[in-house]
Amino acid sequence: MRFKDKYISFFRRGACLLLAACLSLGALSGCALMVSEKEGTEIIMDTIVTINIAAKAERIVYDAEDQGGSKSFFWDRAYDIYHELIGLGKDLEKKELSRFEPESEIYKINASAGDPEGYPLSEEMEEILKTCLEISDKTDGAFDISIGALIDLWNIEGAVKEESEFRVPSGEEIKKALSKCGYEKIKIDNHRIFIPEGMILDLGAVGKGIYLDRTGIREDDILRGTVSAGGSIRTIGSKPDGKPWYIAITDPFKKGTSITMTPVTGDALVSTSGNYERYIDLDGTRYHHILDPATGKCADSGFVSVTVILPEKEGERRGLLTDALSTAIFILGEDFGEKVVKEHGAKVIMIRDDGEIVEFGN
Ligand code: ADP
Ligand code: MG
Repeated sequence: MRFKDKYISFFRRGACLLLAACLSLGALSGCALMVSEKEGTEIIMDTIVTINIAAKAERIVYDAEDQGGSKSFFWDRAYDIYHELIGLGKDLEKKELSRFEPESEIYKINASAGDPEGYPLSEEMEEILKTCLEISDKTDGAFDISIGALIDLWNIEGAVKEESEFRVPSGEEIKKALSKCGYEKIKIDNHRIFIPEGMILDLGAVGKGIYLDRTGIREDDILRGTVSAGGSIRTIGSKPDGKPWYIAITDPFKKGTSITMTPVTGDALVSTSGNYERYIDLDGTRYHHILDPATGKCADSGFVSVTVILPEKEGERRGLLTDALSTAIFILGEDFGEKVVKEHGAKVIMIRDDGEIVEFGN
């Protein structure tokens, strides 16, 4: 469902459709007793992005009847915000994060691999990459944006889209791909990045989180809403009745339904990583898109889904952080999940491959 033209767009009173609309997407925000809300969907970064904007009752101002009486202040604002956020996501993908768009910064960085001159970084990209490298350090390299060569070798994405035939790579091939990876080989010096020949940076694990970091709605007229990009969600503001949003965690064993719900209050970032969206089942083994740099193979910590929830904090890239941590915990398992909760005050919900739900934090 796309965001309809503003004058024929739907307008719901006491709408409670957010839950139903998002259930098929992965994690999602629960319904609020909204006076008015608007929702639209677009594909960005190969992912379904859904933006839901809700207004405070007292801020919905109708035009005078002689001007048609049908449009409202809220509608115009919601329309503008929606298009602003969608445009921002498309630009982010095209100009910064995509490793397949020749115009993007990541593409150009990858093209500079092996160049002794390195590549000059934008201020924003330098911060993003430094944050990623810090997370790599803290996760003993489980989260590693330098593993593009390994991702390409497995090419799970291509197989899922039926663009290529799936084949389990040999140990020799994995070793060769791994020799081109390793975050500790990335150097950032004097605002230039130096990556060795053959290395490919891939921000697939954090692209959605980086997007969510930029989608805060700061207007005081439209105060609440949700932006969801695949398994990553940002909640903005709180429900009119002060009750929390409810995030439904997709049942990995029965997609389209939720296995549990968890309350989230106010501005928060949520990220889910799982092995049930993009995978190939072959001879009793599930091959999926989260790779363990320690083995060069698909991560296998006994969990099928990991959700990390953090409250927003001004000046911190918590979208990026939740996204990176959900990937890292998926690879490292329960003990690391507990550590994260302690260190960041996060809430973590993990689903074991036998269906057991393990929760930490509050
Ligand atoms: P999704 O993209 O489905 O939300 P994740 O956020 O966990 O799932 O990210 C998975 C993507 O991250 C992969 O498609 C790949 O591009 C990249 N990736 C896979 N393994 C790693 C890893 N160990 N470290 C960093 N990025 C990874
Ligand atoms: Mg992630």
